[in-house]
Amino acid sequence: MSAPQGSQGTVSIDIPDTPHAIDRSGLRPVGVPREVVVARSVAEVQETVRRAAETGTPVVTRGAGSGLAGGAVAGEGVIVLDLSGLDRILVIDPVDGTAHVEAGVITADLDRAAAAHGLFYAPDPGSVGISTIGGNIATNAGGLRGAKYGVTRDAVLSLDVVLADGSLVRLGRPTIKGVTGYDLAGLVVGSEGTLGIVVAATVRLLPVPAQVATASASFGTLEDAATAVAAIAVSGARPAVLEILDGATLEAIDAATGSALRSLGEALLIAQTDGFGAEQEIAVVAGALAATATTVEWTTDAAEAERLLSARREALPAIERIGRPLIEDIAVPRSRLAEAIRRIRRIADEHGVPIFVFGHAGDGNLHPIIVAETDADGEIPEIAHRAADDIFALALELGGTVTAEHGVGRLKQKWARRELGEVSVALHERIKAVLDPQGILNPGSAF
Ligand SMILES: Cc1cc2nc3c(=O)[nH]c(=O)nc-3n(C[C@H](O)[C@H](O)[C@H](O)COP(=O)(O)OP(=O)(O)OC[C@H]3O[C@@H](n4cnc5c(N)ncnc54)[C@H](O)[C@@H]3O)c2cc1C
Repeated sequence: MSAPQGSQGTVSIDIPDTPHAIDRSGLRPVGVPREVVVARSVAEVQETVRRAAETGTPVVTRGAGSGLAGGAVAGEGVIVLDLSGLDRILVIDPVDGTAHVEAGVITADLDRAAAAHGLFYAPDPGSVGISTIGGNIATNAGGLRGAKYGVTRDAVLSLDVVLADGSLVRLGRPTIKGVTGYDLAGLVVGSEGTLGIVVAATVRLLPVPAQVATASASFGTLEDAATAVAAIAVSGARPAVLEILDGATLEAIDAATGSALRSLGEALLIAQTDGFGAEQEIAVVAGALAATATTVEWTTDAAEAERLLSARREALPAIERIGRPLIEDIAVPRSRLAEAIRRIRRIADEHGVPIFVFGHAGDGNLHPIIVAETDADGEIPEIAHRAADDIFALALELGGTVTAEHGVGRLKQKWARRELGEVSVALHERIKAVLDPQGILNPGSAF
């Protein structure tokens, strides 16, 4: 690594072999980036983008590089624009119920700062402790609480965006309501660094729930668990969290922690209600679970709740102990959950690769995790990608989507195009051409 150079706090690193070139998808870029700019101010972002525009140089923006879709992956000749240095929480306003933050703020840091005001930031991706608000916005990240609070888009009010010519624009507005103009902030949410660079955002905060109640239930069959999800959906209750874990995942957790979850059944559901009346609401949820469950327990005690939730937290680390995972991310209508998991199991058998399934049942969002032996170079082998292809085809067949929250990146372009269809893809391309006529913002990713 050569010595960092820079001006006014910008760190410009000229390095051939940099962790700045990859995310957590396992995708390796071709070639090396020509430069890494760690920006410390909006002006530095603008200056970098202007310089890139003058020379037609591609820019790959990155937050924390925790993405799973190959979005922040930078190959030959690219400028990597790292926003992790834009990490100030500028305003928290309890009366407006909003925060104005720079893009590089770690999501959990915002949540912690909000807690000091009796507030919380609802979107809670599993990567909440490492990923940035800017990255969450660029991928429209979701999380456990999505069943009640939605995804990052639902929390975003306004965005400060550096456009492809280096100009700065505020999209949306900091008020809770407002309909002037097209929803351009909404357009940028989920655009994966291809339409503009988010440098700051005003986001919605909510009061910390007065009470939280948690339930856990085991089921003899996946169908019984899916029946319970449907029963909760029509029960009038609205859990903040509704997670499902399949038998293979339960076995992996048992092996890692010494628990005996698999012996209780083929699937586990974990639900959480919150707010005034959480206890009354969890009783309704427990009633819906009990109709098909083999065991149900629920609690309002925080330590007990942690114990019930720990299975979900342990799932990915337990699977990672078995081998290097390819983490997928589909959504299907909730009514097709059991069918989706059963057929994913069949795909695992057909390809001879273990596939573990857990996910956000309340959103119909499943994370099939494929663990195949890595090849000689330590890369995820082709067979895992072939199994993933079958899973994407299944998601579309069931009326779902190939990516519920991780994004398209470089890995899912073919499937995203198939899902969107010719006319929608052409519309995406025209929008991209208006906002980034030279095609310098994260080319080769998303669309
Ligand atoms: C253990 C683990 C658990 C995870 N759990 C979840 C989960 O529950 N839900 C979920 O949705 N995701 C999850 N993810 C995926 C990932 O954390 C999210 O996609 C996250 O939003 C990425 O944030 P980041 O700051 O790391 O962005 P990066 O990975 O750096 O970038 C992601 C994409 O956004 C673009 N980008 C980043 N910052 C900006 C910006 N300021 N302006 C414009 N474009 C930008 C990049 O170019 C890239 O295309 C998980 C990942 C891991 C490793």
